[in-house]
Amino acid sequence: MAGSRVGFPYTSRSRIEDSQLRANLRSATTAIREKRGRVVAEKADWEDLRLKGEQIRREVLSNLDSYLVKLESSVEKVGGVVHWAVDASEANQIVFSLVRQHGESEVVKVKSLTTDEMGLNEYLSQHGVMAHETDLAELIIQLAHDKPSHILVPAIHKNRSEIRDLFQRTISKGTSLSDDPAVLAEASRLYLRQKFLSAKIAVSGVNFAVAETGTICVVESEGNGRMCLTLPKVLISVMGIEKIVPTLDDLAVFLELLPRSSTGERMNPYTSLWSGVHKGDGPEEFHLVIMDNRRSAVLADPVGRQTLHCIRCSACLNVCPVYERSGGHAYDSVYPGPIGAILSPQLFDSESSKSLPWASTLCGACYEVCPVRINIPQVLVHLREKVLAEGHQSRSERFQFAILSAVLSSGARFDLALWVISRLRFLIDRFPSSGSLPGLVGKWTEARELPELPKETFRVWWRRSRGH
Ligand code: SF4
Repeated sequence: MAGSRVGFPYTSRSRIEDSQLRANLRSATTAIREKRGRVVAEKADWEDLRLKGEQIRREVLSNLDSYLVKLESSVEKVGGVVHWAVDASEANQIVFSLVRQHGESEVVKVKSLTTDEMGLNEYLSQHGVMAHETDLAELIIQLAHDKPSHILVPAIHKNRSEIRDLFQRTISKGTSLSDDPAVLAEASRLYLRQKFLSAKIAVSGVNFAVAETGTICVVESEGNGRMCLTLPKVLISVMGIEKIVPTLDDLAVFLELLPRSSTGERMNPYTSLWSGVHKGDGPEEFHLVIMDNRRSAVLADPVGRQTLHCIRCSACLNVCPVYERSGGHAYDSVYPGPIGAILSPQLFDSESSKSLPWASTLCGACYEVCPVRINIPQVLVHLREKVLAEGHQSRSERFQFAILSAVLSSGARFDLALWVISRLRFLIDRFPSSGSLPGLVGKWTEARELPELPKETFRVWWRRSRGH
């Protein structure tokens, strides 16, 4: 998309030029991708599992209204309180009012993309409440006043020495640290332990909510989530309306699909499940905030709705050549990579998100690895059509596509165009060293190598050699 100087084509430019960033991303995503490939290959029934996962997600979305009511009743039956939020603003207000009711000014948080989507930390901070991120990578991002760049590993763009320097400036002031990961993990552990022990309220996201039993499931790798979910007296969990699974048996399917697809592990290290509150065991108060935030509109779109199948595994990011070259920040969204390219334009009404359906080569690698078989290329093309239908296209683009359409819709015109281009070879031959074309068409060669033009076109060669 063109017409404005915001959006992916502009935000990605400086990232693409940062060779260090590209090298960091390449090495991290390659390692995760290879690990995933090995554990997926061990499962002979992997494709059946994917089909099953897709089928469950379809069933849930087709009957979402009744599953939501069922979940509400199941959660209330086991002692939880359910709150409904139409958008991020209402969800933020609900969380804040719960914190205020308890007279607290600090909460501990489990890593959660949904609360990032709401801008919860910023909202709480504006109202005098400090939210402490407890996931190591999220803590790094928070201390650095940075933004996440990957769904699973938000600090993927930072290296060890940067993290050591950051810790020495913040949570380990006056201490000399090495950049050994174990030393850095210990520094964060010492800092976070105090937070876990003193916090009265924890806020989490939700990976899955089981409609039948009211059971909430959070998966994480460090155990910090488990501390948040069990130590504080009050637990507030926030979920998008789509995070439902019908039964515990259905949950089991996703607990196989998710760890293999995300961290490349056979089993997730910390999988916490709880159903309401239990005297003397864990939080005394449990609140579940269920947020729409435009998801109903996504659901109403027959092509776009499959985006809501997503289980946030991040496998699509790790295979995407565009993500690898541009990095997560170029997407200017809490949801980067291929899933961000289809989810952000549907959830956020920002100018920059409208450019995201073009942040793809449509190679299809994301579709192949997606554990719930979201046809990301199909949604990308669909969203491109929608953005263009809304008139978000520059005049020069409209002009170029009109010419292209006229040429490609007629065999005679296509032949004529090829003949004209072959006559213009001399122009291209004038710019052999720079490898770029002049004028408007020069945009094309800004990011691509100019291929050598053959002496004759395929069609001419065919006619000459076959005689027809
Ligand atoms: S779109 Fe598919 S591969 Fe990408 S994060 Fe979601 S579930 Fe994973």
